[in-house]
Amino acid sequence: MTTITSRLAILPFLALVGATTVPVNDIDIRTCAPRIPAPLQRHSRFTCPLTLDDVSAQARGPSSWSPWTHLPVCTEAKEPGFEKIEVKDHGENDDGEDDDDEEEEQDEDEDTPQTRFCVYTNNRHGIGGLSIVTTPETASASMGIWDESLPQPLEMAANTSLAYEIIDIPGRGKGVVAARKIKQYEAFMVDYAALVVDLRVAGGSVERNEGYRLLQAAADQVSDPQRVLGLAQTSTAARHPVENVLRSNAFHTALGAEGDEHMALFPDLARINHDCRPNAFPRFLPHSLAVNVAAARDIVPGEEITISYIPLGQTRIARQKALLRWEFVCKCPLCAASEADIEASDARLTRIDELREKVAEAVDHRYSSTRAEKKAALETIRDLFPRLYEEDLFTAYSEQYASIARLYWALGDHGQAQFYAQRSLDVLADQGFIAEADRDKVHLLMRTF
Ligand SMILES: [Zn+2]
Repeated sequence: MTTITSRLAILPFLALVGATTVPVNDIDIRTCAPRIPAPLQRHSRFTCPLTLDDVSAQARGPSSWSPWTHLPVCTEAKEPGFEKIEVKDHGENDDGEDDDDEEEEQDEDEDTPQTRFCVYTNNRHGIGGLSIVTTPETASASMGIWDESLPQPLEMAANTSLAYEIIDIPGRGKGVVAARKIKQYEAFMVDYAALVVDLRVAGGSVERNEGYRLLQAAADQVSDPQRVLGLAQTSTAARHPVENVLRSNAFHTALGAEGDEHMALFPDLARINHDCRPNAFPRFLPHSLAVNVAAARDIVPGEEITISYIPLGQTRIARQKALLRWEFVCKCPLCAASEADIEASDARLTRIDELREKVAEAVDHRYSSTRAEKKAALETIRDLFPRLYEEDLFTAYSEQYASIARLYWALGDHGQAQFYAQRSLDVLADQGFIAEADRDKVHLLMRTF
Protein backbone atom coordinates (compact mmCIF):
# COMPACT_ATOMS: atom_id res chain seq x y z
CA MET A 1 0.00 0.00 0.00
CA THR A 2 2.64 2.49 -0.92
CA THR A 3 1.57 3.83 -4.27
CA ILE A 4 -1.00 6.50 -4.79
CA THR A 5 -4.16 5.51 -6.59
CA SER A 6 -5.32 8.30 -8.80
CA ARG A 7 -7.14 8.30 -12.04
CA LEU A 8 -6.57 11.73 -13.45
CA ALA A 9 -3.68 13.99 -12.68
CA ILE A 10 -5.27 16.74 -14.78
CA LEU A 11 -8.44 16.98 -12.77
CA PRO A 12 -9.11 20.36 -11.29
CA PHE A 13 -8.56 19.65 -7.63
CA LEU A 14 -11.68 19.82 -5.57
CA ALA A 15 -10.72 22.31 -2.92
CA LEU A 16 -13.38 22.66 -0.32
CA VAL A 17 -13.02 25.86 1.59
CA GLY A 18 -13.57 25.20 5.25
CA ALA A 19 -14.29 27.20 8.34
CA THR A 20 -11.57 27.78 10.89
CA THR A 21 -11.06 24.56 12.76
CA VAL A 22 -11.53 24.36 16.50
CA PRO A 23 -9.74 22.16 19.03
CA VAL A 24 -10.85 18.54 18.79
CA ASN A 25 -12.51 18.23 22.16
CA ASP A 26 -13.72 21.73 22.73
CA ILE A 27 -15.61 24.61 21.13
CA ASP A 28 -13.98 27.97 21.49
CA ILE A 29 -16.90 30.36 21.79
CA ARG A 30 -14.70 33.31 20.90
CA THR A 31 -14.11 32.00 17.40
CA CYS A 32 -17.29 30.06 16.79
CA ALA A 33 -20.80 31.01 15.78
CA PRO A 34 -23.63 29.74 18.02
CA ARG A 35 -24.71 26.14 17.53
CA ILE A 36 -27.37 26.16 14.86
CA PRO A 37 -29.86 23.28 14.58
CA ALA A 38 -28.93 20.98 11.72
CA PRO A 39 -31.95 21.70 9.48
CA LEU A 40 -31.23 25.42 9.71
CA GLN A 41 -27.49 25.17 9.20
CA ARG A 42 -27.67 25.56 5.46
CA HIS A 43 -29.45 28.89 5.89
CA SER A 44 -26.66 30.24 8.01
CA ARG A 45 -23.47 31.52 6.50
CA PHE A 46 -21.66 31.30 9.78
CA THR A 47 -21.87 27.78 11.08
CA CYS A 48 -18.89 26.49 12.93
CA PRO A 49 -18.73 22.75 12.45
CA LEU A 50 -17.35 20.66 15.26
CA THR A 51 -14.28 18.59 14.81
CA LEU A 52 -15.64 15.28 16.01
CA ASP A 53 -13.92 12.00 16.63
CA ASP A 54 -15.27 8.83 18.23
CA VAL A 55 -14.47 9.97 21.77
CA SER A 56 -15.92 13.48 21.56
CA ALA A 57 -18.95 12.29 19.54
CA GLN A 58 -19.72 9.60 22.10
CA ALA A 59 -19.47 12.15 24.89
CA ARG A 60 -21.73 14.64 23.18
CA GLY A 61 -24.36 12.16 21.96
CA PRO A 62 -26.03 11.65 18.57
CA SER A 63 -27.50 15.17 18.44
CA SER A 64 -23.98 16.49 17.94
CA TRP A 65 -23.10 14.17 15.07
CA SER A 66 -24.93 16.09 12.35
CA PRO A 67 -24.52 15.86 9.40
CA TRP A 68 -23.11 12.39 10.09
CA THR A 69 -25.63 9.60 10.61
CA HIS A 70 -23.19 7.27 12.39
CA LEU A 71 -20.83 7.50 15.32
CA PRO A 72 -17.36 8.14 13.82
CA VAL A 73 -15.07 5.07 13.75
CA CYS A 74 -11.49 6.15 14.43
CA THR A 75 -7.91 5.00 14.70
CA GLU A 76 -4.64 6.65 15.69
CA ALA A 77 -2.10 7.56 13.05
CA LYS A 78 1.26 5.82 13.39
CA GLU A 79 3.47 8.88 13.79
CA PRO A 80 2.55 12.16 15.44
CA GLY A 81 3.24 15.37 13.61
CA PHE A 82 3.55 13.93 10.11
CA GLU A 83 0.56 15.78 8.82
CA LYS A 84 2.02 19.24 8.34
CA ILE A 85 5.14 17.82 6.73
CA GLU A 86 3.02 15.94 4.21
CA VAL A 87 1.17 19.11 3.34
CA LYS A 88 4.46 20.90 2.73
CA ASP A 89 5.27 18.46 -0.03
CA HIS A 90 2.54 20.11 -2.05
CA GLY A 91 3.55 23.68 -1.26
CA GLU A 92 4.42 25.78 -4.26
CA ASN A 93 6.77 28.09 -2.41
CA ASP A 94 10.28 27.08 -1.66
CA ASP A 95 11.45 30.45 -0.44
CA GLY A 96 12.95 31.17 2.94
CA GLU A 97 9.72 32.53 4.35
CA ASP A 98 8.00 29.25 3.76
CA ASP A 99 10.75 27.36 5.56
CA ASP A 100 10.20 29.53 8.60
CA ASP A 101 6.53 28.62 8.59
CA GLU A 102 7.41 24.98 8.45
CA GLU A 103 9.61 25.22 11.50
CA GLU A 104 6.87 26.98 13.43
CA GLU A 105 4.31 24.38 12.47
CA GLN A 106 6.58 21.56 13.49
CA ASP A 107 7.15 23.20 16.85
CA GLU A 108 3.41 23.40 17.38
CA ASP A 109 3.01 19.78 16.43
CA GLU A 110 5.07 18.66 19.38
CA ASP A 111 2.28 19.80 21.68
CA THR A 112 -0.67 18.58 19.64
CA PRO A 113 -2.18 15.14 20.11
CA GLN A 114 -1.54 12.36 17.65
CA THR A 115 -3.49 12.66 14.44
CA ARG A 116 -6.47 10.40 14.10
CA PHE A 117 -8.32 9.14 11.07
CA CYS A 118 -12.04 8.48 11.29
CA VAL A 119 -14.90 7.24 9.15
CA TYR A 120 -17.65 9.85 8.73
CA THR A 121 -20.84 8.63 7.10
CA ASN A 122 -23.99 10.32 5.93
CA ASN A 123 -26.01 7.46 4.51
CA ARG A 124 -28.58 9.76 2.91
CA HIS A 125 -26.20 11.92 0.89
CA GLY A 126 -26.20 11.66 -2.89
CA ILE A 127 -27.44 8.43 -4.44
CA GLY A 128 -26.49 5.68 -1.98
CA GLY A 129 -24.82 7.52 0.91
CA LEU A 130 -21.32 8.87 1.49
CA SER A 131 -18.47 7.81 3.79
CA ILE A 132 -15.39 9.98 4.23
CA VAL A 133 -12.26 8.52 5.84
CA THR A 134 -10.17 11.45 6.93
CA THR A 135 -8.96 13.52 9.88
CA PRO A 136 -11.51 15.21 12.17
CA GLU A 137 -10.20 18.58 10.97
CA THR A 138 -10.75 17.81 7.30
CA ALA A 139 -14.21 16.37 7.97
CA SER A 140 -15.10 19.56 9.79
CA ALA A 141 -13.73 21.77 7.02
CA SER A 142 -15.65 19.86 4.36
CA MET A 143 -19.10 20.96 5.47
CA GLY A 144 -19.55 22.97 2.27
CA ILE A 145 -20.78 19.77 0.62
CA TRP A 146 -24.03 20.09 2.55
CA ASP A 147 -24.69 23.66 1.44
CA GLU A 148 -27.80 23.40 -0.69
CA SER A 149 -27.73 27.07 -1.62
CA LEU A 150 -24.89 26.28 -4.03
CA PRO A 151 -25.71 25.02 -7.55
CA GLN A 152 -26.60 21.35 -7.24
CA PRO A 153 -25.32 18.69 -9.62
CA LEU A 154 -28.79 17.65 -10.70
CA GLU A 155 -29.71 21.18 -11.71
CA MET A 156 -26.54 21.32 -13.74
CA ALA A 157 -27.38 18.28 -15.81
CA ALA A 158 -30.91 18.42 -17.16
CA ASN A 159 -32.55 15.38 -18.77
CA THR A 160 -30.22 12.74 -17.38
CA SER A 161 -32.88 10.03 -17.58
CA LEU A 162 -32.51 7.35 -20.18
CA ALA A 163 -29.31 8.89 -21.54
CA TYR A 164 -27.19 5.83 -20.79
CA GLU A 165 -27.26 2.29 -19.47
CA ILE A 166 -24.68 0.13 -17.75
CA ILE A 167 -24.25 -3.19 -19.57
CA ASP A 168 -21.81 -6.09 -19.88
CA ILE A 169 -19.29 -5.47 -22.64
CA PRO A 170 -17.60 -8.61 -23.99
CA GLY A 171 -14.01 -8.79 -22.77
CA ARG A 172 -14.20 -5.51 -20.85
CA GLY A 173 -16.44 -6.23 -17.88
CA LYS A 174 -19.13 -3.60 -17.46
CA GLY A 175 -19.38 -0.49 -19.56
CA VAL A 176 -21.70 2.42 -20.24
CA VAL A 177 -23.49 2.89 -23.55
CA ALA A 178 -25.67 5.72 -24.82
CA ALA A 179 -29.39 4.90 -24.69
CA ARG A 180 -30.27 7.88 -26.88
CA LYS A 181 -28.52 10.57 -28.86
CA ILE A 182 -26.36 12.76 -26.61
CA LYS A 183 -25.36 16.15 -27.95
CA GLN A 184 -21.87 17.59 -27.70
CA TYR A 185 -21.21 19.16 -24.26
CA GLU A 186 -24.51 17.86 -22.85
CA ALA A 187 -24.11 16.75 -19.22
CA PHE A 188 -25.83 13.38 -19.28
CA MET A 189 -24.67 11.73 -16.06
CA VAL A 190 -24.59 12.94 -12.48
CA ASP A 191 -22.82 10.98 -9.80
CA TYR A 192 -21.96 11.53 -6.16
CA ALA A 193 -18.91 10.24 -4.33
CA ALA A 194 -19.77 7.17 -2.26
CA LEU A 195 -16.34 6.89 -0.64
CA VAL A 196 -13.66 9.51 -0.05
CA VAL A 197 -10.43 8.35 1.61
CA ASP A 198 -7.40 10.31 2.75
CA LEU A 199 -4.40 9.02 0.80
CA ARG A 200 -2.42 8.66 4.00
CA VAL A 201 -4.82 5.95 5.21
CA ALA A 202 -3.77 3.86 2.20
CA GLY A 203 -0.20 5.15 2.30
CA GLY A 204 1.10 3.66 5.52
CA SER A 205 0.07 6.29 8.06
CA VAL A 206 -2.15 3.87 9.94
CA GLU A 207 -1.57 0.22 10.80
CA ARG A 208 -2.59 -1.92 7.83
CA ASN A 209 -5.32 -3.82 9.64
CA GLU A 210 -6.65 -0.65 11.23
CA GLY A 211 -6.79 0.91 7.75
CA TYR A 212 -8.77 -2.08 6.48
CA ARG A 213 -11.13 -1.85 9.46
CA LEU A 214 -11.87 1.79 8.57
CA LEU A 215 -12.32 1.03 4.86
CA GLN A 216 -14.69 -1.84 5.64
CA ALA A 217 -16.75 0.33 8.01
CA ALA A 218 -16.85 3.10 5.39
CA ALA A 219 -18.27 0.69 2.78
CA ASP A 220 -20.65 -1.06 5.20
CA GLN A 221 -22.17 2.15 6.54
CA VAL A 222 -23.40 3.68 3.25
CA SER A 223 -27.01 2.81 2.48
CA ASP A 224 -26.09 0.68 -0.54
CA PRO A 225 -22.72 -1.02 0.14
CA GLN A 226 -23.06 -2.98 -3.09
CA ARG A 227 -22.63 0.25 -5.09
CA VAL A 228 -19.08 0.23 -3.71
CA LEU A 229 -18.27 -3.47 -3.27
CA GLY A 230 -19.82 -4.44 -6.62
CA LEU A 231 -17.32 -2.40 -8.62
CA ALA A 232 -14.47 -3.91 -10.60
CA GLN A 233 -11.48 -5.13 -8.57
CA THR A 234 -8.55 -5.35 -10.96
CA SER A 235 -5.57 -4.53 -8.71
CA THR A 236 -3.17 -7.36 -7.99
CA ALA A 237 -1.44 -5.28 -5.30
CA ALA A 238 -4.52 -4.81 -3.10
CA ARG A 239 -5.14 -7.12 -0.15
CA HIS A 240 -8.59 -5.94 0.87
CA PRO A 241 -11.72 -5.70 -1.32
CA VAL A 242 -12.39 -2.03 -0.53
CA GLU A 243 -8.73 -1.17 -1.11
CA ASN A 244 -8.96 -3.02 -4.42
CA VAL A 245 -12.10 -1.13 -5.47
CA LEU A 246 -10.36 2.15 -4.64
CA ARG A 247 -7.15 1.27 -6.47
CA SER A 248 -9.12 0.15 -9.52
CA ASN A 249 -11.64 2.96 -9.72
CA ALA A 250 -10.92 6.01 -7.55
CA PHE A 251 -10.11 9.53 -8.69
CA HIS A 252 -7.64 11.85 -7.09
CA THR A 253 -9.14 14.78 -5.21
CA ALA A 254 -8.30 17.33 -2.54
CA LEU A 255 -10.36 17.96 0.55
CA GLY A 256 -10.39 20.22 3.56
CA ALA A 257 -8.94 23.63 4.30
CA GLU A 258 -5.43 22.41 3.50
CA GLY A 259 -6.45 20.62 0.30
CA ASP A 260 -5.17 17.27 1.57
CA GLU A 261 -5.03 14.55 -1.05
CA HIS A 262 -7.83 12.04 -1.05
CA MET A 263 -9.22 9.29 -3.26
CA ALA A 264 -12.83 9.69 -4.36
CA LEU A 265 -14.96 6.85 -5.63
CA PHE A 266 -17.89 7.67 -7.93
CA PRO A 267 -19.73 4.37 -8.57
CA ASP A 268 -21.48 5.24 -11.84
CA LEU A 269 -18.54 7.18 -13.24
CA ALA A 270 -16.37 4.17 -12.36
CA ARG A 271 -18.36 2.09 -14.87
CA ILE A 272 -17.16 4.22 -17.79
CA ASN A 273 -14.24 2.61 -19.61
CA HIS A 274 -11.08 4.35 -20.74
CA ASP A 275 -10.32 5.57 -24.27
CA CYS A 276 -7.28 7.62 -25.27
CA ARG A 277 -9.54 9.78 -27.46
CA PRO A 278 -12.71 9.68 -25.37
CA ASN A 279 -16.17 10.87 -26.35
CA ALA A 280 -16.96 12.19 -22.86
CA PHE A 281 -15.27 13.96 -19.98
CA PRO A 282 -16.00 14.39 -16.25
CA ARG A 283 -16.50 17.77 -14.59
CA PHE A 284 -16.05 17.75 -10.84
CA LEU A 285 -18.19 20.03 -8.69
CA PRO A 286 -15.88 21.20 -5.95
CA HIS A 287 -18.47 22.04 -3.34
CA SER A 288 -20.61 18.92 -3.41
CA LEU A 289 -18.28 15.93 -3.94
CA ALA A 290 -20.24 15.31 -7.10
CA VAL A 291 -19.38 14.99 -10.75
CA ASN A 292 -21.23 15.30 -13.97
CA VAL A 293 -20.14 13.75 -17.22
CA ALA A 294 -20.52 15.64 -20.49
CA ALA A 295 -20.17 14.55 -24.10
CA ALA A 296 -17.00 15.72 -25.84
CA ARG A 297 -18.80 15.28 -29.16
CA ASP A 298 -22.17 14.00 -30.35
CA ILE A 299 -22.74 10.40 -29.24
CA VAL A 300 -25.16 8.11 -31.07
CA PRO A 301 -27.47 5.55 -29.41
CA GLY A 302 -25.69 2.27 -28.65
CA GLU A 303 -22.23 3.85 -28.77
CA GLU A 304 -20.02 3.07 -25.78
CA ILE A 305 -19.31 6.12 -23.63
CA THR A 306 -15.66 6.61 -22.68
CA ILE A 307 -13.49 9.00 -20.70
CA SER A 308 -9.71 9.25 -20.41
CA TYR A 309 -8.18 8.11 -17.10
CA ILE A 310 -4.98 10.03 -17.93
CA PRO A 311 -4.26 13.55 -19.20
CA LEU A 312 -5.15 13.92 -22.88
CA GLY A 313 -2.62 14.61 -25.61
CA GLN A 314 0.14 12.11 -24.73
CA THR A 315 2.04 9.93 -27.20
CA ARG A 316 1.51 6.16 -27.26
CA ILE A 317 4.51 5.32 -25.06
CA ALA A 318 3.56 7.92 -22.48
CA ARG A 319 -0.05 6.71 -22.47
CA GLN A 320 0.93 3.06 -22.02
CA LYS A 321 3.19 3.99 -19.12
CA ALA A 322 0.50 6.11 -17.45
CA LEU A 323 -2.12 3.36 -17.85
CA LEU A 324 0.10 0.70 -16.22
CA ARG A 325 -1.33 1.43 -12.80
CA TRP A 326 -4.70 0.03 -13.89
CA GLU A 327 -2.97 -3.10 -15.11
CA PHE A 328 -4.52 -3.13 -18.57
CA VAL A 329 -3.28 -2.73 -22.12
CA CYS A 330 -5.35 -0.12 -23.92
CA LYS A 331 -7.07 -1.38 -27.04
CA CYS A 332 -8.94 1.80 -27.88
CA PRO A 333 -9.25 2.73 -31.58
CA LEU A 334 -6.23 5.02 -31.34
CA CYS A 335 -4.01 2.39 -29.69
CA ALA A 336 -5.31 -0.32 -32.05
CA ALA A 337 -4.82 1.79 -35.18
CA SER A 338 -2.25 0.91 -37.85
CA GLU A 339 1.40 1.56 -37.06
CA ALA A 340 1.40 4.37 -39.63
CA ASP A 341 -1.62 6.08 -38.08
CA ILE A 342 -0.17 5.82 -34.58
CA GLU A 343 3.11 7.31 -35.76
CA ALA A 344 1.27 10.15 -37.47
CA SER A 345 -0.69 10.82 -34.28
CA ASP A 346 2.44 10.70 -32.12
CA ALA A 347 4.19 13.14 -34.47
CA ARG A 348 1.21 15.48 -34.30
CA LEU A 349 1.05 15.29 -30.50
CA THR A 350 4.77 16.02 -30.19
CA ARG A 351 4.40 18.99 -32.55
CA ILE A 352 1.37 20.24 -30.55
CA ASP A 353 3.48 20.23 -27.38
CA GLU A 354 6.24 22.23 -29.10
CA LEU A 355 3.82 24.78 -30.52
CA ARG A 356 1.96 25.20 -27.24
CA GLU A 357 5.21 25.82 -25.45
CA LYS A 358 6.24 28.36 -28.09
CA VAL A 359 2.93 30.19 -27.74
CA ALA A 360 3.10 30.19 -23.94
CA GLU A 361 6.56 31.73 -24.09
CA ALA A 362 5.49 34.39 -26.58
CA VAL A 363 2.51 35.28 -24.38
CA ASP A 364 4.79 35.56 -21.33
CA HIS A 365 7.06 37.99 -23.18
CA ARG A 366 4.36 39.88 -25.08
CA TYR A 367 5.20 43.26 -23.52
CA SER A 368 8.92 43.02 -24.24
CA SER A 369 8.80 41.38 -27.68
CA THR A 370 8.67 43.13 -31.05
CA ARG A 371 5.51 43.49 -33.13
CA ALA A 372 6.92 40.98 -35.61
CA GLU A 373 7.45 38.43 -32.83
CA LYS A 374 3.88 38.85 -31.58
CA LYS A 375 2.53 38.43 -35.10
CA ALA A 376 4.64 35.32 -35.54
CA ALA A 377 3.11 33.93 -32.34
CA LEU A 378 -0.38 34.53 -33.77
CA GLU A 379 0.67 32.56 -36.84
CA THR A 380 1.90 29.74 -34.58
CA ILE A 381 -1.56 29.53 -33.00
CA ARG A 382 -3.16 29.38 -36.47
CA ASP A 383 -0.80 26.51 -37.19
CA LEU A 384 -1.74 24.83 -33.91
CA PHE A 385 -5.56 24.84 -34.10
CA PRO A 386 -6.08 22.29 -36.92
CA ARG A 387 -3.77 19.87 -35.08
CA LEU A 388 -5.77 20.31 -31.87
CA TYR A 389 -8.97 19.56 -33.81
CA GLU A 390 -7.43 16.50 -35.39
CA GLU A 391 -6.42 15.10 -31.99
CA ASP A 392 -9.71 16.17 -30.33
CA LEU A 393 -7.86 18.18 -27.68
CA PHE A 394 -10.92 20.24 -26.91
CA THR A 395 -9.74 21.25 -23.45
CA ALA A 396 -6.96 23.33 -25.06
CA TYR A 397 -9.23 25.53 -27.19
CA SER A 398 -10.14 28.17 -24.63
CA GLU A 399 -6.52 28.58 -23.56
CA GLN A 400 -5.46 29.26 -27.16
CA TYR A 401 -8.26 31.79 -27.72
CA ALA A 402 -7.11 33.57 -24.56
CA SER A 403 -3.54 33.59 -25.91
CA ILE A 404 -4.71 35.21 -29.16
CA ALA A 405 -6.59 37.81 -27.11
CA ARG A 406 -3.52 38.65 -24.99
CA LEU A 407 -1.30 38.98 -28.05
CA TYR A 408 -3.78 41.32 -29.79
CA TRP A 409 -4.07 43.37 -26.61
CA ALA A 410 -0.30 43.77 -26.45
CA LEU A 411 -0.37 44.76 -30.15
CA GLY A 412 -2.85 47.51 -29.28
CA ASP A 413 -5.75 45.93 -31.19
CA HIS A 414 -8.31 46.01 -28.39
CA GLY A 415 -11.26 45.10 -30.62
CA GLN A 416 -9.72 41.80 -31.68
CA ALA A 417 -8.53 41.20 -28.10
CA GLN A 418 -12.07 41.53 -26.79
CA PHE A 419 -13.46 39.31 -29.56
CA TYR A 420 -11.10 36.41 -28.77
CA ALA A 421 -11.40 36.87 -25.00
CA GLN A 422 -15.15 36.42 -25.44
CA ARG A 423 -14.57 33.28 -27.55
CA SER A 424 -12.37 31.87 -24.83
CA LEU A 425 -15.15 32.35 -22.27
CA ASP A 426 -17.79 31.02 -24.65
CA VAL A 427 -15.85 27.79 -25.07
CA LEU A 428 -15.48 27.41 -21.30
CA ALA A 429 -19.21 28.02 -20.81
CA ASP A 430 -20.18 25.66 -23.66
CA GLN A 431 -17.99 22.95 -22.18
CA GLY A 432 -19.52 23.61 -18.77
CA PHE A 433 -16.31 24.55 -16.95
CA ILE A 434 -17.72 27.95 -15.97
CA ALA A 435 -21.27 28.92 -15.08
CA GLU A 436 -23.52 30.16 -17.86
CA ALA A 437 -23.80 33.50 -16.04
CA ASP A 438 -20.04 33.98 -16.21
CA ARG A 439 -20.10 34.00 -19.99
CA ASP A 440 -20.72 37.77 -19.79
CA LYS A 441 -17.77 38.45 -17.51
CA VAL A 442 -15.22 39.06 -20.23
CA HIS A 443 -14.12 42.21 -18.40
CA LEU A 444 -12.87 40.02 -15.54
CA LEU A 445 -10.74 37.97 -17.91
CA MET A 446 -9.42 41.10 -19.60
CA ARG A 447 -8.29 42.53 -16.28
CA THR A 448 -5.58 39.87 -16.39
CA PHE A 449 -4.24 41.19 -19.71
ZN1 LIG B 1 -5.71 3.88 -26.00
